[in-house]
Amino acid sequence: MERFRIDTIVATPNPQQVIWAAMHQDYSEGYVIDEADMWPDEEKAGDLIIKYLLAGNRGHYGPLEHPQITLNVGFFPHSMMQQLRTHRVGISFDVQSFRYTGQRVIDVAKNAKNVEEVFYLRPVGQYDNRQGKKYQYTAEQRAEDLQWCLDACKRYQQRIEEGLSEEHARGLIPFDARQNFVVSCNTRSLMHLLDLRWKKDAQLEAQKFCELLYVRFEEWCPAVAHWYEENRAKKARLSP
Ligand SMILES: Cc1cc2nc3c(=O)[nH]c(=O)nc-3n(C[C@H](O)[C@H](O)[C@H](O)COP(=O)(O)OP(=O)(O)OC[C@H]3O[C@@H](n4cnc5c(N)ncnc54)[C@H](O)[C@@H]3O)c2cc1C
Repeated sequence: MERFRIDTIVATPNPQQVIWAAMHQDYSEGYVIDEADMWPDEEKAGDLIIKYLLAGNRGHYGPLEHPQITLNVGFFPHSMMQQLRTHRVGISFDVQSFRYTGQRVIDVAKNAKNVEEVFYLRPVGQYDNRQGKKYQYTAEQRAEDLQWCLDACKRYQQRIEEGLSEEHARGLIPFDARQNFVVSCNTRSLMHLLDLRWKKDAQLEAQKFCELLYVRFEEWCPAVAHWYEENRAKKARLSP
């Protein structure tokens, strides 16, 4: 788990003021930028948008669509990236593809990289399947599965040496290769992602993604993040 990362590449400065300005334009007679010297500061803007947009679940989310954040997400398994990519509205992705490069797979085959740097396997432990049946993933099974990944890397290396392209040979590697990506979203679509993927029955790795995403959200837009945490986080408030 400790390899998972989310880092902010860039984010709209003063997002709470931006949300406040968008809201303020809705009911202002004038042109809001002309009054910028009278705007509330970032913290006060946060209080006002909670009070006038979010408290009581009024559903006026439009102003939250203006501030944008771009994040680098690292070392999550392919399956988690696939789940995230089902979300289309207000969210953009660029994902490492394995079409052009596979050097890290070859590095595993050559023992230049540890299998776990390139592939993700769940930790040893007690799990439930989707029907609620409990099972144990043992240390012995996990060791065998690491060997399985290593063997697949060796086959990949062999096929590349025989002339296959990376996009062809990638079909040989285990499903949960770690994949890095860049994702951009706005304050509203970020909360939508958290709504759908921070639920207790979401895939374990998606929940880990949401924990790290929340840290970046809170740094960037604290008032809205705290409102989200108190009112929606992990409550399975699903979108229609
Ligand atoms: C627990 C869980 C399990 C899932 N399992 C599977 C699975 O097994 N296989 C699979 O393929 N997918 C699966 N999905 C993905 C799911 O079917 C949706 O594709 C995904 O959740 C994206 O939907 P969204 O509501 O977030 O859409 P977004 O693209 O993020 O859109 C945001 C909102 O905009 C509206 N919207 C967007 N597009 C439309 C549209 N075309 N028509 C009407 N309204 C729209 C909706 O209100 C939507 O909620 C799963 C999702 C979850 C949360």
